[in-house]
Amino acid sequence: MATVFVSRHPLVLHKLTQLRDQTTPPWHFRRLVRDLTQILFVEATTDLPTEPVTVHTPLAEFAGRRVAGDLAIVPILRAGLGMSEAVLELVPEASVRHLGLYRDETTHQPVTYYHKLHGKPPELALIVDPMLATGGSAVEALNLLKTWGAKTIRVLALIAAPEGVATVQRHHPDVGLYLAALDSHLNDNCYIVPGLGDAGDRQFAT
Ligand code: URA
Repeated sequence: MATVFVSRHPLVLHKLTQLRDQTTPPWHFRRLVRDLTQILFVEATTDLPTEPVTVHTPLAEFAGRRVAGDLAIVPILRAGLGMSEAVLELVPEASVRHLGLYRDETTHQPVTYYHKLHGKPPELALIVDPMLATGGSAVEALNLLKTWGAKTIRVLALIAAPEGVATVQRHHPDVGLYLAALDSHLNDNCYIVPGLGDAGDRQFAT
């Protein structure tokens, strides 16, 4: 079974508490999503491969290193958009492969309405979605990414429910999950409790 990493970084605890607070306005919420994603991304990529590169400082030659291999950021629309912007700020060379999914009213299964998974598959694909609730969207995204040929895939989520973690692990035991928090449970409407409400609405003031 792959990693389920839950951050204990003091800044994550601090900012996540602000993120949950229902009085936090959308502009502040978006900043917090960015900050939390960047901290979590760093924590999730400490083993990113590097390769040697030589540069010249004003004084001497320097044998340095650069990140090797390409990264694709895969935001699940629309709540994942703020997270993909945050990762792009750190890795501007990454590609962004948007993925649109909705839940069918009758079957309750995720349906893909948009994706940009074409061309050469990346070394590392990073699914970003603030809320890992039932896990249905994450499983569908992982199915699509594996069919495309992505070699290593990780999921970055700010808050997860145990039900969602179990579903992803059942279908994709090889995929690492990197979380800012693992909450108590899902309610009858599949919202994470205590959670933060609707992550899309809170980011985009809808
Ligand atoms: N999506 C959200 O935005 N919030 C939840 O609690 C669950 C899914």
